[in-house]
Amino acid sequence: MNISERNISGVLPVIRQLDAAAANRIAAGEVVERPASAVKELVENAIDADARRIEVAYADGGKALIRVTDDGHGIAAEQLPLALSRHATSKIDGSDLLNIHTFGFRGEALPSMGAVGRLSITSRAAGADMAAVISVNGGDIGTVKPAALAKGTVVELRDLFQATPARLKFLRTDRAEAQAIADVIKRLAMAEPSVGFVLRDVTGGGEGRVVFRADPQTGDLFAALHGRLARILGQDFVDNALAIDAEREGITLTGYASLPTYSRGAAVAQYLFVNGRPVRDKLLIGALRGAYSDFLSRDRHPVVALFLDVDPTRVDVNVHPAKAEVRFREPGVARGLIVSALRHALAEAGHRASSTVRDAALGAFRPESQPERPIYQMERTGAAYPQRSFTEPMQQGFGEVAAMSARVEEAFGIDTSVTESLQANPLGAARAQLHENYIIAQTSDGVVIVDQHAAHERLVYEKLKRQMAENGVRAQALLIPEIVELSHGDRDRLLEVADDLIPLGLTIEGFGGSAVCIRETPAILGEVNAAALVNDILDELADLNQTQSIRDKIEAILSRVACHGSIRSGRRMRAEEMNALLREMEATPHSGQCNHGRPTYIELKLDDIEKLFGRK
Ligand code: ADP
Ligand code: MG
Repeated sequence: MNISERNISGVLPVIRQLDAAAANRIAAGEVVERPASAVKELVENAIDADARRIEVAYADGGKALIRVTDDGHGIAAEQLPLALSRHATSKIDGSDLLNIHTFGFRGEALPSMGAVGRLSITSRAAGADMAAVISVNGGDIGTVKPAALAKGTVVELRDLFQATPARLKFLRTDRAEAQAIADVIKRLAMAEPSVGFVLRDVTGGGEGRVVFRADPQTGDLFAALHGRLARILGQDFVDNALAIDAEREGITLTGYASLPTYSRGAAVAQYLFVNGRPVRDKLLIGALRGAYSDFLSRDRHPVVALFLDVDPTRVDVNVHPAKAEVRFREPGVARGLIVSALRHALAEAGHRASSTVRDAALGAFRPESQPERPIYQMERTGAAYPQRSFTEPMQQGFGEVAAMSARVEEAFGIDTSVTESLQANPLGAARAQLHENYIIAQTSDGVVIVDQHAAHERLVYEKLKRQMAENGVRAQALLIPEIVELSHGDRDRLLEVADDLIPLGLTIEGFGGSAVCIRETPAILGEVNAAALVNDILDELADLNQTQSIRDKIEAILSRVACHGSIRSGRRMRAEEMNALLREMEATPHSGQCNHGRPTYIELKLDDIEKLFGRK
C-alpha cells in the first residue's frame, strides 16, 4: 500500500506489538551483518567469560557453519534459556550503561543469531558436574538437555541467513567472508595477548586447515603485546615500530607505531582500541594522520596498534550497533594525546630509518639474486632507489676501481687526516660523492650512504618550520618580480590566501587578467623557479576541504616549498660542503627521513658488509 492508496481508503493504520521472533530478526539486521560480525560477538562472549583459549571454526566463509569453543566459566544449565532471550545479560548491573568493563552489555547477540540461523549452545558452568545444551532454530527455542562437555562453552551457528534470503544475497564470496572473519580474530587477538586463538577453516569437514594461530603470551603488558604483534603484524613491524606509552588527563595511550619509513600505500593496518575494544573511529584516524603529517606524504599510511584506556564513564560505547565506534566525553583530549605522544616518539627516533631499508639495500648488494622478500612497506619507484648503480662498478676490472677511488679523493680534495676525527660522528666523515647525488661517508664501524637531495630537503623544511615558529619565514624581494599566468580559478584561489602566504615568505599580488605577480620568495630557497613553486602550492590548496583553513595546511605547504630549495641531485659538492651537510643532519630532528617518508640515508655496519663477503 502506498501513500496515495492509504489516503483514499481512509483506513487508519493499527499499531501492533511485534512478536519476539520478528523483533529479534530486526535486531539481528543491526548486530549480525555478516558471518564476521557473528564471529565477533561470539568471541567477545568467550573473552568476557575469561577464556584462556578460544578456537573458531568456520565452513563456507561462515555461511554454513561458525563454531566457537572456549574454556571460560560457562553458563549454568538453568540460565541457558535466559541467554537466548533478548535484553538478558549478566554484564551490567541494573541500568548502569555508563560503567562498562566487558565487550558485551546489550544481551542481544545470541537471540539475534538464533533468529537468523540455527544456533546451539553447549556449556558446562564452572563447578557443575554436567554440561547442558539448548538449541534455537529460526527463533524457536528448544528445551535444555543434558550434554557432554568437559569445560567451557561451545556455540554453533549453522546456516546463517538461510531464512532471510535477502540478507544472504548481500554476502560476498566465501573467500571474502573468510577474510573478514580472520580480520576480526586478529583484531581481538591484539586486544587480548594473554588469550590463545586458533582459527580453522573446516569447509568439507574434518579437522580442517589452521588459518591462524596465536599462542597465549606471558610477561608484562608490553612484552605480551610485543609478542602478539610480532605474530600478527610480523617481526618486521615490531622491529620498525616505536613503543608508545603516554598519559594525559587520565587517558593513557600505549602500543606500537611504525617509523615513517615503514609505511603502507593504504590505511589498512591501523589498529585502534578503546578500553580494549577494537574501534574504527574517524576522530582517532584523523589524529593519527595529524601526528604523521610531517613525515609522510598523503598517499602513505603508518602501521599502528594503539590502545587508549580511559575510565569507562568518560566514553560512550553504546553509539554503534556493532560497537565499532565510541564517543569520547572530551574528544579533544584523546586527539591531543595521540598527536603529541606520536610526534614526541617520532622526534626522538628522528635518526632511525627503518631497518628494512638497510636490509633491502643489502639484498640489492648480494651477488646472486635471492627470492624477493615481501617488503611491502617500501613500494617505491626505482628512480629514488638506485639498485642498479650498486652493481655497476662490479663489472669493471678491480684495478680500474682502485684507481677510481684514488681519483675520487683527489678530485674532492679530501684530506684523510682531517676526516679521521670526523668518523666518530654518527654520520661519519664524507669520503666521496657518487653519481652526483650520493654522499659516501665512513663511520667508526661502517659506511653511510646519504641521498643528498632528500637530506637537504628535510633540512630546509625543518629550518622553514623553525623560522615560521619564530617571526615567520624570512623573505627576499625579487629584483625583477616574476609574472605567472594562471587560470582564472587558480588565480582567485591563490589571491584569496595571499595574506596567509606572507608569513611563509611569499608575497603574491594580482597582475591584470589571470596573472599574478610574485614579489618575494623565502630567502632560504635562494634562486627559485617561482612559477613551479606557485603551482605546487596550488596543488596543495586544491586538497583543502571546506572545514580546513589554510593554517591547517601550513606544514604541507612548507614541505612543498622545501622541495624547491633543495640541492637537486646532479650537483657536485665539495668535501666541506658534504661534511657540513652531515653535521647539520645530526643536529636536526627528524632527519632520518625526507618529507615524504623516504629515508635520507642508509647505514651499513662493517658487520653487514663482512657478511656480504662471506667473512662472517
Ligand atoms: P551480552 O554479551 O551483551 O551479555 P549475549 O547475547 O552475547 O549478550 O549473551 C548473553 C549472556 O549469555 C551473556 O551475558 C553471558 O552471561 C552468557 N554467555 C554468552 N556466551 C557465553 C560464553 N561463551 N561463556 C559464558 N557465558 C556466555
Ligand atoms: Mg555478547
